[in-house]
Parts: sequence; structure tokens; C-alpha cells
Amino acid sequence: MIGPRVREAALGLAEVPAYLYDLPALDEHVASVRRALEGVELYYAVKANPDPELLRVLAAYVDGFEVSSAGEHAHVTALFPGMPVALGGPGKTDAELRLPHHRIHVESPNELRRLLGTGLEADVLLRLNPDLPVEGAALTMSGPFGMDEDDVAACLPLFGDRVRLRGLHAHLASGLAAPQLLELARALLEQPYEEVNLGGGMAVSYAAPETRFDWAAYGAGLTSLRRGRRLRIEPGRALTVYCGYYATKVVDVKRVRGQAYAVVLGGTHHLRTPATKGHDQPFTILPTGGGPGVTDEPVTFVGQLCTPKDVLAQRIVTSARVGDTVVFEMAGAYAWNISHHDFLMHPKPAFHHLRA
Ligand SMILES: *Cc1c(COP(=O)(O)O)cnc(C)c1O
Repeated sequence: MIGPRVREAALGLAEVPAYLYDLPALDEHVASVRRALEGVELYYAVKANPDPELLRVLAAYVDGFEVSSAGEHAHVTALFPGMPVALGGPGKTDAELRLPHHRIHVESPNELRRLLGTGLEADVLLRLNPDLPVEGAALTMSGPFGMDEDDVAACLPLFGDRVRLRGLHAHLASGLAAPQLLELARALLEQPYEEVNLGGGMAVSYAAPETRFDWAAYGAGLTSLRRGRRLRIEPGRALTVYCGYYATKVVDVKRVRGQAYAVVLGGTHHLRTPATKGHDQPFTILPTGGGPGVTDEPVTFVGQLCTPKDVLAQRIVTSARVGDTVVFEMAGAYAWNISHHDFLMHPKPAFHHLRA
């Protein structure tokens, strides 16, 4: 369900598709996350959404930004000179290893040797790929990320005065609820490190948008586990996902082999999230159309791409008429910036930042 500010903005749009970012809602949300994290550092993982206006809101609450490429590094340091930056990501180039940072997350013993080879000073967190059971995670970080315990141990003798070991980094999984994340944090904090970055991955539910990650429980749990250590988290999705909307219009409604389809302007080349994650993107229909349509039956919402994968939501019981405005919700993270914008060369959406 959308609030009055977004509804009014969507109804006032001269052109669709358009992205709407609700900045006051983002401000309120991040403020509440910040309040829940007594004594724990909060970084924002920029890859979730690097929109400068969003970053400006976030900058008032976060202790730093986590970046995963030279591009993100340049973007963030130009916008916020002096703001702490943690540089992570697999396959860092020599140029990336030379970038100034508050922390650098090292992914392998070879990468550490290359970092030492630069001759520059560095403050390192070793990224561990821990052998921990991760139940119910949407995307576990096994595979190429971080190192086994053995490789972490192999890194330890390499540190010196210029390249300093600060602690451990572990982005455990994506899509975990607070009790599960705390369970993993507890296991990880048995390691003897003074500083630990516990990563991001806080769950968001596209099926039940009003169900939110329990930041109060997570913050309280981390406070009790901290015991004088420096703890940091770096969420992306759970901070920005709720503030973004993709507004468009129904251009056609039809029935094919018995199934009702609503074709909207734009599609997954603007909002790739449902195609990538295989979910139905939640939406609200504003009945601005009055054209031909269907009433209270399962409707599949597709975009303008010539591929059967261009599906935004499947068989949702609703009414839809040509000309109706459809506002897709939860489009503030891994949405526009992960989409294949140039496929089919349709026009790009406009971006509107709503203010109080
Ligand atoms: C992607 C990523 C994050 C953010 O993950 P979310 O699921 O968006 O919270 C944090 N840290 C690392 C290392 C990542 O790769």
C-alpha cells in the first residue's frame, strides 16, 4: 500500500515510467535503524542504490559507505570527501588496491600479497567465508567470496607496520531475519578479533512488504555480544528498498489462452528485481484508466520487452484497465541500477525525489 505523498506524486506525473524516491520516508527509516544500533557502526552498501540524493539522506546517519569498485569509490568520495569508506569486492585491480580507504576487505592471500606490493599503508579486514550453517538465506555467500579459515591463518604472518590487520569481515548471507543473523554473529564473534564487520543481508519480504527486519532485536543482540569490540554492519537492501517506487501505466489488457495480461510501459529493463529474484513485485493500482480491462481476476503484469521473462508480477487477483496507473513498490534497492536499460532501446524513466 502506498502513502498519500507517493500517491499524489504518481497521479501528478506528466510522463511514465518514472521512479519516485520518497526521501522523508527514507530519512525516517534510517533514523530508526540508527537508533536501534547502540554502539555499533553502520555503513551503507552503495551497490544497493548509489543515487546521490539517497546517499545524501543516508550520510546524515551512517558512519561510512561500503564500496565495491573504483567507480563506487570515485562516486562516494566526490560526494562526501572525508567520509570513511570501506573498500570490498572480489577481483580488485591494482588501481583499486591503491585507493585510499578507512578499511579494505581483503579476499584472498594473493590479494593481500598484491596489497603489500603496492608499498602503501592499508588497514585490513580479512574476509572470512565461514563454515557456518545458514538456514533460510536467500543467497548464501559460499562460492568465490572471502577465504576459508586456513587461508585467513596463512594471511596472519604477512602483516606489518604499513599493512595492518584490523580484524575480520564476513558478509554471511542475504535475506536473514534478526535471530538467524544474531546466531551467525555469535558464532563469528568467538574468533579473537578486536574489530568485526558483520556485513549486510538483513531480510526484506517482497511478499509481505509490511513485515520489516527487527532492527531493535538485532541492535540489542549485537550490543550484548559486543563486549568492548568494535562492531560494524553494512546493510544495503534493507535500508533503501522501501523508499523507491516505479510508476507506470497500463497500455494493453488482453487474454491469451485464458490468462489475463496487463502490459505496462517499461518493464524489467527498468525494474529487473522481480525477474532476478523470481518474485512478484508488490504494486498498487490507481484507477486512472477507464479503458477496457478485467475485473477481480488473476492478472499477470508484463512490460514492453520481447521476451517471456519480462514479468513484473504473476497472476495477482486484481482489476486492471487500460490507462490505469501502476505503482510498483519496494523499488529502492537493486532495481534501476541492476537493470539492463538499453535492451530494446525504449525511453529511460524520469527520476523524481519527493521531499517533505
Ligand atoms: C551486497 C553486499 C552487502 C549488502 O547486502 P544487502 O543484502 O543489500 O544488505 C554488504 N556487504 C557486502 C560485502 C556485499 O557484497
